[in-house]
Amino acid sequence: MTRRAPRRKARFAMTELKLFNSLTRELETFTPVHEGEARVYTCGPTVYNYPHIGNMRAYVFADILGRTLSSQGLKLTHIINITDVGHLTDDADEGEDKMEKMAAEKAQSIWDIAKHYTEAYWADVKALNIRQPAKWSIATDYVPEMIEFAKGIADKHCYELDSGLYFDVTTIEDYGRLARAVTEDGEGRIDTVEGKRNAADFAIWRKTPPGETRQMEWDSPWGPGAPGWHLECSVMGHKLLGFPFDIHTGGIDHREIHHPNEIAQNQAFCCSGGLSETANSGANIWMHNNFLVERSGKMSKSSGEFLRLQLLIDKGFHPLTYRMMCLQAHYRSELEFSWEGLEAALTRLKRMVMAAERLADAQPIPAAEHPKFAGPLTKFEEAMSDDLNTPIALTALEDALAVKKVDAGIKRAVIESMEAVLGLGLFELTRKAMRIRPSSAEITESEIEAALEQRKAARAEKDFAASDAIRDKLAAAGVDVMDGDPLGWEWKLGETN
Ligand code: AMP
Ligand code: ZN
Repeated sequence: MTRRAPRRKARFAMTELKLFNSLTRELETFTPVHEGEARVYTCGPTVYNYPHIGNMRAYVFADILGRTLSSQGLKLTHIINITDVGHLTDDADEGEDKMEKMAAEKAQSIWDIAKHYTEAYWADVKALNIRQPAKWSIATDYVPEMIEFAKGIADKHCYELDSGLYFDVTTIEDYGRLARAVTEDGEGRIDTVEGKRNAADFAIWRKTPPGETRQMEWDSPWGPGAPGWHLECSVMGHKLLGFPFDIHTGGIDHREIHHPNEIAQNQAFCCSGGLSETANSGANIWMHNNFLVERSGKMSKSSGEFLRLQLLIDKGFHPLTYRMMCLQAHYRSELEFSWEGLEAALTRLKRMVMAAERLADAQPIPAAEHPKFAGPLTKFEEAMSDDLNTPIALTALEDALAVKKVDAGIKRAVIESMEAVLGLGLFELTRKAMRIRPSSAEITESEIEAALEQRKAARAEKDFAASDAIRDKLAAAGVDVMDGDPLGWEWKLGETN
């Protein structure tokens, strides 16, 4: 039965939204399961540590997807989970629970660790203009449902070992169809769990070893223990969105192990054989963002100064600069992080903010047919409906911002409609707000402003020696004076890394 929701007013009339489905490896036209709706599940963070900016790329991507679906007039139900139990240090079922390990290292309770890092993640979500999903589903809130789900598939698809309940991947057809590198014989995986029938088999319930008590454990038909990470996402997706839902997202690492295992469970639960119908996988479309890479290894959470959003802010970059950096690459392309690249993204964002500031007082007047905007709007729509091509959409936004001799209200309405999809914060940001003092700066804003006033006075009196001396003094404090800057900035603090 399909439920009907009232169709909302579409900002963009994209006739065909094409999205790349990792499962079929094809661009597919998005057709909602439930008319007028879009239901999306995004694998959320494991809250044992701060997210790095690579992790945040995954949520910027999911946000762009959600905004695009909303802009089509679809009623979006987006779920992002918070994994607070069950994710082991190795995705393929080996090692310790990441949460338990961090709690032991910090001598804190898992609940405190989860709370602290969930809040840190939410702060990054907000700073990056990522919209709130319909629900943040917390894994530990769904353990009874996980046990029920596991009970439903245990007889036909699972076997018990001392360490837990394992899913036998040979009991379903097409195991690993999604993955590029791993097959059911577990090619590429190291099999260290004794008694596993196939290297790719995975724990859906991990038993607490006899004589031990874990901080987080629940009773189950297989003894006290904790759910496997893959089971969590299957259950929350099913419970909150129903099978099949429209789109499941995550980073490309999930395409290899986590999602093939989720799919295997979903197939078992749906009692279907193969994946000839991709809907048997639980979702119609599986989408994966490529990685943000950083050559010197600072992305790794084990490195001292790892790349968190806060580090970027501490170095003087407004967080939305990073969103801009993400949008400059297609989500399926690898994106290389560099401070120079971030500088370039900041300049581009400043230019756009400056152009949008001119529309600050205008009342939006929607006039979609206005001839001056026909080109940019068509380009924008075509780009976004072509598998969310944000790099091209950004140029369409710039084209629209550059349109001259047109009513500011009409222009504002056009820019707002693009902004609703890209979420760069163009109408909230100001150039001043984008100038962030690096945490290492030794000079305050008011000291800089005072010195610049003195310099202005010296120049007015044609005392260039004094003016140069002030400039040198500022330079020594790390402040670059920017005479004639096309973006109207009088100074900036140097040193970005
Ligand atoms: P985790 O907290 O490890 O489960 O990861 C959260 C999300 O970030 C997942 O969707 C991962 O696939 C994704 N991810 C991890 N590393 C990167 C990276 N370097 N670039 C982009 N996405 C990533
Ligand atoms: Zn997941």
